[in-house]
Amino acid sequence: MRLLVTGGAGFIGGHLAENFAREGHDVTVLDNLEPYYDRRLKEHNIDVGRTAASESDGSYEFVEGNVTDTSLLDELLTDTDIVYHQAAQAGVRTSVDHPKKVNEYNVVGTVNVLDAARKADVDRVVHASSSSVYGKPEYLPYDEEHPNEPVSPYGASKVAAEQYVRVYNEIYGLPTVSLRYFTVYGPRMRPNMAISNFVSRCLRGKPPVVYGDGTQTRDFTYVADIARVNETLLSTSEADGETLNIGSTDTIDVLTLAETVRDTIDPSLDIQFTDRREGDAEHTHADVSKAQRLLDYAPTRSIREGVDEFIDWYRENRDWYEPLVVNS
Ligand code: NAD
Repeated sequence: MRLLVTGGAGFIGGHLAENFAREGHDVTVLDNLEPYYDRRLKEHNIDVGRTAASESDGSYEFVEGNVTDTSLLDELLTDTDIVYHQAAQAGVRTSVDHPKKVNEYNVVGTVNVLDAARKADVDRVVHASSSSVYGKPEYLPYDEEHPNEPVSPYGASKVAAEQYVRVYNEIYGLPTVSLRYFTVYGPRMRPNMAISNFVSRCLRGKPPVVYGDGTQTRDFTYVADIARVNETLLSTSEADGETLNIGSTDTIDVLTLAETVRDTIDPSLDIQFTDRREGDAEHTHADVSKAQRLLDYAPTRSIREGVDEFIDWYRENRDWYEPLVVNS
């Protein structure tokens, strides 16, 4: 199949593009190489995708460009079967500083992708949404019916984008799916996230730094599970028009996570605490029964298994990955 992965030089899009190329699909990646974190990680992801294609019957093309460029989108979508729309300004804290940019990329960019997809009559658009749409928990775990009350411009942008995704399905009959990812981690993860930071510091003999008191909980999802559910959507229309939670259901509080990483690497280290950050959700916990029912989705890693795998990967790739880790 001919697949377009927007944001395919990033963490999640990089894994999707690699897997699709390895399975023999023709993959085009559209990414503007946004300097949100070190460009070298994105260049590495592009190399991984090219290598995967060279080892299979698939192909891989990288196009540097922005989802705000509607003529480029029209051109790229002409021959596309399925769009995996991952491009976005990720990161809650960046969104607090740059709300208008987040709207331009995440909301307007999504409408642009949807509109080009509608004109080109593509088979499906799969949109990367986020657990940030929920914001304040009225009950946990969140099911998809839980009210959306985001606590950051990022979360608000994902609510708006999701609504456009749904409306393009309802009004124009465009097959669309929104996947609400719950904090994703794993090899080549964004180097400005808690897990990469904890591992980096512990391996260098420094205490991991926890924002706030560490009682905030997260449903950390291993990237291989994200890749698998996206792959399922290559061949099923069961979830068209739907919005689905994609999490691990194995919730952990951030302090316990820091202790787990610390105990695995160097139990003699302390834990350091610093101020809580604005816009961070207090708790995320996914009810994934809808994805289970429609897509046979089942998370395969507990947080401890996933963290162990990530630490192994980190040690093997430490020479090039560690210099990219932010705030460590
Ligand atoms: P990422 O920053 O690694 O990847 C996003 C990619 O999109 C980057 O390579 C960036 O250069 C590109 N991009 C940004 N703006 C663009 C634009 N205007 N035009 C073209 N390309 C653009 O982030 P990620 O963690 O891989 O996230 C992928 C998607 O999943 C995003 O939509 C994000 O909001 C969503 N998501 C991620 C997580 C997570 O924990 N990583 C959780 C929930 C949702």
